[in-house]
Parts: sequence; C-alpha cells; structure tokens
Amino acid sequence: MISSRNPLDPSDVLAELPADTADDVARKAASARSAQHEWARNPMQRSTALSRAAAAVEAAAAELADLVVREVGKPVVEAEGEVARTVAVLRYHAQAALASAGSILPPADGQGLLMTRRSPRGLVGLITPFNFPLAIPAWKAAPALALGNAVLLKPSPLALASAARFVELLEAHLPDGLLALCPGGADTGQALLSTVDALSFTGSTAAGRSVAVAASQAHLPVQTENGGHNSVIVLPDAEVSAVARVVARDVLGYAGQKCTSTRRVLVCGQSKGFTEALLEELGKLPIGAPSRRDVVAGPVITDAAAASLEAAVESCRGPGVTVLRGAVPEGPAYVAATVVQDDEGCSLAAREELFGPVVVVQAVPDEDRAVALANAGSARLVAAVHTRDLDRALAVADQLRAGMVRVNAPTTGVDLHAPFGGEGDSGYGPREQGRAADALFTVERTITVRPSA
Ligand code: NAD
Repeated sequence: MISSRNPLDPSDVLAELPADTADDVARKAASARSAQHEWARNPMQRSTALSRAAAAVEAAAAELADLVVREVGKPVVEAEGEVARTVAVLRYHAQAALASAGSILPPADGQGLLMTRRSPRGLVGLITPFNFPLAIPAWKAAPALALGNAVLLKPSPLALASAARFVELLEAHLPDGLLALCPGGADTGQALLSTVDALSFTGSTAAGRSVAVAASQAHLPVQTENGGHNSVIVLPDAEVSAVARVVARDVLGYAGQKCTSTRRVLVCGQSKGFTEALLEELGKLPIGAPSRRDVVAGPVITDAAAASLEAAVESCRGPGVTVLRGAVPEGPAYVAATVVQDDEGCSLAAREELFGPVVVVQAVPDEDRAVALANAGSARLVAAVHTRDLDRALAVADQLRAGMVRVNAPTTGVDLHAPFGGEGDSGYGPREQGRAADALFTVERTITVRPSA
C-alpha cells in the first residue's frame, strides 16, 4: 500500500492505494495501446478532448488547490497558480494537436516530394515528483496526448491524491484506458520502463540517472529532468536591496522545494552587504500554515525531509563558513530560511542541491570567476545575472552554460511554451514543454515520393 499524507498532520491521509505490480502495469499498458490506435488517427478529437479536459480542471480549481495545499504543503496562492497553469497547459496543447507535424524539403534531384512527418511514439510513460503535483503531470501528459500517444502516469507516492484526481478529470473526456494512473514507487517506475515506447521522468538526480541508464540499455527514448543547483550572479552595479528581494522569494518560496529555487548567490566584491540585505528580506516573508494567504513557505514535504535538511545544514558548518538561520513556527516539518555565508564555496550547500530553503552566499573577485563557478556546477538548470548594464548582462548571459539563463529575473518561473530543461546532471535527453515536447513524444520519419514512371 502507498499513501500520501498532509505534511502538517500525518494522520490526515489523502490517498491510499496498492502499488501497481509489473503485471498491473502490463495490463494497463495493453488497454492503453488498444485505445491509442484510433486516438492517433484523429487530431480534431484530441484537440476537442483536451479543451474539455481544460474546462473540467478549471471547474474544479478550488477543490484542486485545496488538495495541493493539504497534500504537499504548497502555500495556497501558489497552489491556485499551479491549477491555473495546469489549465493553460491543457489549452495550449489542445491547439498544438492541430499544429504542423512535419516539414517539406526540396528533393536533391528535383523529382517528386521529400518530406518529414512526426508520428506518435505509441505508449509513453511519465514518472513525476511531488513538488508540482498537477503542473508536471499536465506538462508531460498534455503534449503526449495531443501528439497522439497513450499515457501511463506514475506520480510520486507523496502526491498520489492530486495525480489521481487529475487523471480522473481528464479520463472523463478521453477514450477508455488511454490515460492510466499507475500508483507506486521506484519498482512501479521501473515496470513502466520495460513496457512503454518512450519515457519522461522528473525528479531527483540520483533517480533520474538510474532511469536514464535503464532506458538507454533498452534503447528507449528518454528524457530526465533532475535536480538543479541554480546560481545567481550579482554584478557590482546591481541594486543590492532589489536583488535581495527577488532572491529571498526564490530561496524561501514553497520552502525552497522547486527545481528552479536559487541555491547559490555569487556576489562580485564584498558579500557581507548582500547577506545582510538577504536576511532582512527573508525576515519579511511569513512561514506558516500553507492554507494562509499571506504565507510564502509552509512545511517541507515530510518530517524525514526536514530532518535530513537539518543534518545537511549542520554539515555545512566549518572554518570560514557562517550559517545564519531565521525563525520557524512550532509544528512538524518546518525548516528555517538558511543562509550559508561561504566565501570559499567548500560547504555541501555550495556543491549540491539541498531541497529546502537553503542558499549559499559566496563572494567572488569578478564576473569571470562568477561565470567560471556557475559553469563548474554539476546541475545547471537555471543561472541568472543581475546588473543595470545591458552590455555586461549580455556578455555574462552569453557565457552561462545552463538550460535557462535569466537576466534581472528570478530563477523560478517557467514559460509553458518555451523549451525547459537543464545541463550537466540536471537533465538528460531532449527538452520538454511547448513544441520542444515534439522531440520525445513523436518519431520523425523521412518520406520520399517519386513519380511512378
Ligand atoms: P524523487 O526522485 O524522489 O521521485 C521522483 C519520481 O521518481 C517519483 O515518482 C518516484 O517514485 C520515482 N522514482 C524514484 N526512484 C526511481 C527509480 N529508481 N526508478 C523509477 N522511478 C523512480 O524526487 P522527488 O523528491 O519527488 O522530487 C524532488 C526532486 O525533483 C528534486 O531534486 C527537484 O529538483 C527535482 N525536480 C526537477 C524538476 C525539473 O524539471 N528539472 C522539476 C521538479 C522537481
């Protein structure tokens, strides 16, 4: 049995289901495949179904936001934003079902037609994390379905109820069996790998690596979106208080449980003034029950996650490192906003994603060193630079090797129609979202047509 529980009150069980065995997954795969043949042939039906699914999710918005607050402790305003994003993603891909599915090329000898055509893979598997329990299933399932595939979704056990409700809302508008929920943990995820025609994973780097290895051994098209160790560079001319305001939200928002949360700030020149400004801004952001509309951070996902974050923060203490922590309310799984002042960059937090409200502030002599450090990081999902000098912004942005490069913008925030994914350990395989999703969810074939004589 797997169950998901309210992080603030573990006696509040939101969903409890048996984990799917390999046989269960195989049975769901067979039904999904038989529904997919007809589905693949009818783009208008797909467009209409996804439009109706968007309307159904929109109609259930209040209920879904409440579920997300209870199940994963997301502050209610962000939970509402996530539901709205889920609707927008479904609407976008409802239109994408009718978009161009190939290209025309000039035949080298001028005879006949040379073209490419994108066709659905068939059955795709989706493995998703707890932290965006609706938006991530949506941004994978919507393009997969729009492009003519059937889908098996294996959500995080910690976000089972949200995923189950999402599937239920969509299923009502889809052919029987085309989209199926596969509850379970790593074993069920591995069972998907041996059944599907392509797999899209989002989660931790360690799990992503094992999925990518298994998929490549099976020659299975795969995409893994993993953890992010996201750097922000503050150039000397930047307005410190304004940057600190942006960074504070990117550190503490949803208790730092976003792949795009800011993990490290590289300050050109002295870092002390920036650290003071950041602590002041963090102190203004309320931590508390996620059902409160003013709250920026609730608890982290489980007591165990809180305990492992505390241990990781303690391990950062050492010569040359100062750990500065804010206050937290009484209650389970709260973690204080934590700033690790570490000018040598040798602490654990300077090297690895700690999936909570923990940020390293590190002084660097100049922008070249800042860029070198940002590019030396292993999990380069997002990198940002803050400056009022456009020329320097462009020069730095041009050198940053991260999946998303942002100028004077938060590291968090995703554009649903732009390619999304990381570099280094942060991602493997093609990008996702927008039309970038075509690469994983379709196969491109080259077609040559010659005159018969
Ligand atoms: P997790 O790795 O614990 O779990 C993610 C999913 O993978 C779950 O469904 C889990 O059951 C499954 N899983 C775990 N091990 C597996 C295995 N060996 N084989 C198959 N499936 C397996 O991650 P989490 O704690 O739910 O999510 C947080 C992590 O996800 C963070 O590292 C965060 O940065 C990352 N994340 C990345 C992105 C991105 O787009 N890059 C977005 C959101 C979250």
